[in-house]
Amino acid sequence: MHTRACKIVATLGPASDSPQRLIMLVEAGVNCFRLNFSHGAKEDHKRRYDAVREAEARLGWPIGIIADLQGPKIRVGAFEAGSIRLKYGDVLKLEASDRPGDDRVVRLPHPKIVDALEAGDVLKFDDGKLQMTVVEKSAAGLSARVDFGGELKSQKGLNVPTRRIPISALTEKDRADLACALDLGVDYVALSFVQSADDVREAAMLIDGRAAILSKIEKPAALDDLPEIVDLSDAIMVARGDLGVELAPEQVPIAQRKIIRAARAAGKPVIIATHMLESMIDAPTPTRAEASDVATAVYQGADAVMLSAESAVGRHPQTVVAIMDRIIRAVEDDPDHWAGLKRDTARPEPTTADAISLSAREVADVLNCAAVVAYTSTGSTALRIARERPQCGVVSMTPHAATARRLCLAWGVRSIVTDDATSMEDMTAKAEQTVRALGVAKDDDRVVITAGVPFGRPGKTNMIRILRLESA
Ligand code: PGA
Ligand code: MN
Repeated sequence: MHTRACKIVATLGPASDSPQRLIMLVEAGVNCFRLNFSHGAKEDHKRRYDAVREAEARLGWPIGIIADLQGPKIRVGAFEAGSIRLKYGDVLKLEASDRPGDDRVVRLPHPKIVDALEAGDVLKFDDGKLQMTVVEKSAAGLSARVDFGGELKSQKGLNVPTRRIPISALTEKDRADLACALDLGVDYVALSFVQSADDVREAAMLIDGRAAILSKIEKPAALDDLPEIVDLSDAIMVARGDLGVELAPEQVPIAQRKIIRAARAAGKPVIIATHMLESMIDAPTPTRAEASDVATAVYQGADAVMLSAESAVGRHPQTVVAIMDRIIRAVEDDPDHWAGLKRDTARPEPTTADAISLSAREVADVLNCAAVVAYTSTGSTALRIARERPQCGVVSMTPHAATARRLCLAWGVRSIVTDDATSMEDMTAKAEQTVRALGVAKDDDRVVITAGVPFGRPGKTNMIRILRLESA
């Protein structure tokens, strides 16, 4: 299992979903896979889900799976030729229809969008790479002029920063996809275009504890409701693709820092996503700016960094994972990084769990321990310890595969599925065996163990123990 603290999420797609390729990606460093429900059919997701679980069984360590719901994202329809070329000044019609468009007509799948648009509204396509402005709305329909052109491919995203489109947070497609994802048994459901805490509440009612909830922050409105959204979610994604279309570019780094800080303070895993190594969709090496972007997320203490098109449809899925892994390791080899993480850790809350977590980190620092070993049932203790960002990392011991898989997103946590400890001797024996097997600790090393006594009863963590490994 990987020894890095910051995790890697990779989106599966045609470039990465063969069973052999998938294993190689995990070996190169992937901790969690994302199934993107914006693309592909139910059968594709099932095939990919099964392939990940097979890889997990073969490799013998947990792998997380995120089902990313499309949400009320507006996409253009298909084009007969797969794409059209938009030129500056061209005027095209916009029509609500499922039929494919051509170089005179762009189809929009929702009639509500066409109804809502007015002359003067700005349409941004494909993450804002192309732009049109609505010039006319009449009985004959809607027409728009190209402001910046280029190739517009089928199904590319459309943002309308000038107007709030009245579509609900979970579309009919999302509800069907959600049922499919929960049937498969995914670990996280990612909610796209969350605008308010109520959107998260609505999804939570439907999901009803069957998967963890990952809220994607990609609408400026979500930033206003951030503390409550973080509170109601199990994890957060800084979805810079859409966020960067709706916000001015200079506001994106500010939002990223703010979101990371809020999630870290709450002890919820936070993923930095989109365009991290974008040029590697084609190129075999990243740009300097991309390497720097990934490194910045790691320095900021993000739990995970994510690959989208780079791993789903790119030319070098394995190389891109390997490079992401190297960038993370380079930062984690920098002593200055650890000082920064410590400085940016929010104060503990007045709970037993946080008192134990802070103490575990201090003990590990003072004694230069090889690991903090956390017995955890729901994963909450492991997350509270990870929130302290201990340099030696966390080994979580849980009886539940689902907990181990969810913790794949969490900074610095490696999970082992094992029965609960039954006694003090059993607790130390299992911990010792695990850290030795993982290669984390050897003779004379010390580890910190946290657990809840009495054993055999699901209870809260209330104990901390220091174990020195003796030679046999
Ligand atoms: P997407 O979300 O890839 O599903 O659009 C991420 C983002 O918007 O950055
Ligand atoms: Mn998005």
